[in-house]
Amino acid sequence: MSFTNDCVERQDLFGNCILFFGNCTCIFMTKSEAKIRIQKLKDQMADIDYHHYVLDEPIVSDAVRDSLKRELKSLEDQYPEFITSDSPTQRIGGRALGKFAKIKHSIPKYSLDDVFSFDEVLEFDARVKRFLELPAATDIAYTCELKIDGLNMTFIYEQGLFKKAVTRGDGIIGEDVTHTVKTVKSVPLKLKQPVDIEVGGEVYMPIKSFEALNKFAAKSGEALFANPRNAAAGTVRQLDPQVAASRDLQAFFYAVYSPTEKNITAQKDILEYLRALGFRVEQHFSLFKNIAAVKNFLVKADSLRASLDFQIDGVVIKVNDLNYQARLGRTAKCVRWAAAYKFAAEEVTTVVEDIQVQVGRTGVLTPVAHLKPVLVAGSTVSRATLHNEDEIKRLGVKIGDTVIIQKAGDVIPDIVKVLEKMRTGHERDFKMPKNCPVCGSAVTRVGAEVAHRCTNKNCYAQQREKLYHFVSRTAFDIDGLGPKIIDQLLDSDLIKDAADIFTLTKDDLEPLERFAEKSADNLLTAITKAKHIALAKFIFALGIRNIGEKTARDLSAHFTTLEKIKSADLAELLAVPEVGPIVAESIFEWFHDKNNLKFLDKLLANGIKIEKLSAALVGGKFKGQTFVLTGTLDSLSREAAKAKIIALGGETSESVSAKTSYVVAGANPGSKLAKAEKLGVKVLDEQEFLRLIK
Ligand code: NAD
Repeated sequence: MSFTNDCVERQDLFGNCILFFGNCTCIFMTKSEAKIRIQKLKDQMADIDYHHYVLDEPIVSDAVRDSLKRELKSLEDQYPEFITSDSPTQRIGGRALGKFAKIKHSIPKYSLDDVFSFDEVLEFDARVKRFLELPAATDIAYTCELKIDGLNMTFIYEQGLFKKAVTRGDGIIGEDVTHTVKTVKSVPLKLKQPVDIEVGGEVYMPIKSFEALNKFAAKSGEALFANPRNAAAGTVRQLDPQVAASRDLQAFFYAVYSPTEKNITAQKDILEYLRALGFRVEQHFSLFKNIAAVKNFLVKADSLRASLDFQIDGVVIKVNDLNYQARLGRTAKCVRWAAAYKFAAEEVTTVVEDIQVQVGRTGVLTPVAHLKPVLVAGSTVSRATLHNEDEIKRLGVKIGDTVIIQKAGDVIPDIVKVLEKMRTGHERDFKMPKNCPVCGSAVTRVGAEVAHRCTNKNCYAQQREKLYHFVSRTAFDIDGLGPKIIDQLLDSDLIKDAADIFTLTKDDLEPLERFAEKSADNLLTAITKAKHIALAKFIFALGIRNIGEKTARDLSAHFTTLEKIKSADLAELLAVPEVGPIVAESIFEWFHDKNNLKFLDKLLANGIKIEKLSAALVGGKFKGQTFVLTGTLDSLSREAAKAKIIALGGETSESVSAKTSYVVAGANPGSKLAKAEKLGVKVLDEQEFLRLIK
């Protein structure tokens, strides 16, 4: 039976393999292409593992390695004939180096199968029941433990006295590192009972100690450690125990080898027993009656991360009943009774299938990488911005390359690195087009600017993008008027510019595809409502080059009326705090363009009313304060909450820092809450926030 299989397989008409990965990557490849890709993945991973395990100098993040391993595993599941014993999916990665005595483990050490979503956790539970031949509806109890990101180690005690510490190595043979581990204060030298016992645990370096160590290393010109685990590994493998003793290593314990000999029958009891013997056990572990109950713990663990003083990379879910554990047993590498749930990765690998150029509302040509769809930071992405030609050159990215992409929170993903070892020779260079891909006009690169621009001010693509921007949430915010309907309105010649939106009638809309009487009415109501707009939003909606939301707000607060902005000369514009020469020039130019002035008149003639600036915005009670929102608020949407904050003169931000004034935490807050608590930023619940904005 194949116990782990995280991809669904299909064959196309020609017998080629189509893989649907759990992380959404779809690869269409022939058998011979799969063979080449498997070899490339193995070579790339061998290089990564060599740097990590042998040199203690990782070259990529764990998330990147996980991503490659996942793709490799899916391909090997599809083509088991290509599995070789040296594949990283078949063997435990470490290696016993020559430095220390080699010790054979009495019981081979295991690795854990990774799962990356709750759906995959449910699949794990289903596999467990299938293997145990239990009905699907059976409740299996699980323990959840934080997955500490350190070094796995075996500790041997005789008559309650510490005798040996052995690294995991390749799972069969480890290294004797007793001399350094003996200096770790949380490894007890004498237990509370005089037992003979072999236990498993994790040696790690607390985050603060790691930071201090690196600071010290930087001062004395020594090489820095890449992360706390790497620092722990380097310390444990020191020849000189004095060096280890001078660094802060800690240990947590979570396994008893041969527990049944001690009459223990459940995983949870192992943890209790370890505690009773005087071992340090990580306190957040919990027992759940079934897999459904595990879900909350996974969410909670993710938000705990920022408040812990050690790194975790997930949660280890273990079948609680040791009798079941024994029946489930293990594959060559992993135990079948446990799974490592990994937190949403902000870095993954994928393939650049194409690079296409998008023309923005200011005429800038932006190269966009079209990617094999992949799950990153909790959502599936298939595009990444490449910003400009210089960035493509800097990255050296070609069409067909395997790349690392990074995404944090809501930010559009970036390509951070090309994995050159994955190249097959079929990759193609990208060239910036000489003509606009939409209107065919010449493309220029002006002076020192990095951007290429379409020279045609009336370029259709620019007009279209301007319209998308004009109606978007942060501008005119016309409910129900998104890019698809804008396209329809443009294509059927109902609008030529944004001002035309305000004279649309029911007769115009109803004949359009997907428009019934009701939806036409709804859209017209939303358009009427949007006619009243705040000055800052109005300025932002105009899509003036270099004017973002913040500058629009600054201009609005400074001048208070459209007329004053319109008639301001360069010196008056430069008097606005945070407006520099480039921005001032952009504004001045825009308001001195005949066509733009005509457009403004048309907007006003079509009924746009610019609301007088409230006194609050000019010197609002939130002036100088920054708010970060997390979780769901019951009584208002996130956009509405942001609008309130801004209306009171405050700013909003997506990330928490020491400069954040308040974090507003709704239901199910994310890691921002933990970060706020760690940094001592004031946290408001919904009621407190509502009172403040009242
Ligand atoms: P794994 O994903 O199979 O996880 C097993 C490990 O989890 C155990 O060996 C143990 O060390 C740890 N663990 C922590 N808490 C635990 C608990 N409560 N119960 C059981 N185990 C617990 O690990 P692996 O595949 O052997 O890889 C080790 C790690 O090293 C992975 O996170 C991997 O991404 C990383 N790695 C990184 C690089 C790199 O270059 N960045 C290279 C190789 C490996």
